[in-house]
Amino acid sequence: MVTPTRSLSEERSDETKRTRTPRSLSEERSDETKRARRHEARTIAASVLDPEVPVLTIDDLGVLRAVEVDERDGREHVRVDITPTYSGCPAMDAIRYDVVLALTAAGFDDVEVRLVLSPAWTTDWMSEDGRRKLAEYGIAPPNGRAAVRQGPIRLALSVRCPRCGSLDTREVSRFGSTSCKALYECRACLEPFDHFKVI
Ligand SMILES: [Zn+2]
Repeated sequence: MVTPTRSLSEERSDETKRTRTPRSLSEERSDETKRARRHEARTIAASVLDPEVPVLTIDDLGVLRAVEVDERDGREHVRVDITPTYSGCPAMDAIRYDVVLALTAAGFDDVEVRLVLSPAWTTDWMSEDGRRKLAEYGIAPPNGRAAVRQGPIRLALSVRCPRCGSLDTREVSRFGSTSCKALYECRACLEPFDHFKVI
């Protein structure tokens, strides 16, 4: 009886299967550690506050895009991606600095913060929690969605006064305390307030 000769590539493929599966316990433990470290790094980065609106974290704002922990040259390396609220936002340098500071204080020695410009940040990325905190702080949160800003729906939306809740408000200036915000005035309580523009 003749047994067919197995090709070299078949044997190689078998070898690969043997070495790759099953995964060793230490490999799984190491994956678990990586996940835990990534979670820890993300929690720390997510707690960094926005210098312009200090009640909001960069996570509330949607500025924090990604946190990855991997190994580089045998060292633990943390990469944090942030997207500025608008190009040239001066707060980004402060945010970058605060992220590095917070992570190094927690024992992450090798931290890289990358500025990711595309896709561009939109107020749609702001969390519901962030919108609520913004209103409590006295800034009218962005209303509507960036996707409909060109349409008639956007124009029909009124900005609600964060102090008395009235919709009887008007824009005083396209630019408030920062370029992200417009200055509004409430006709009901007569208070001026900032409105975080939809972008
Ligand atoms: Zn009011």
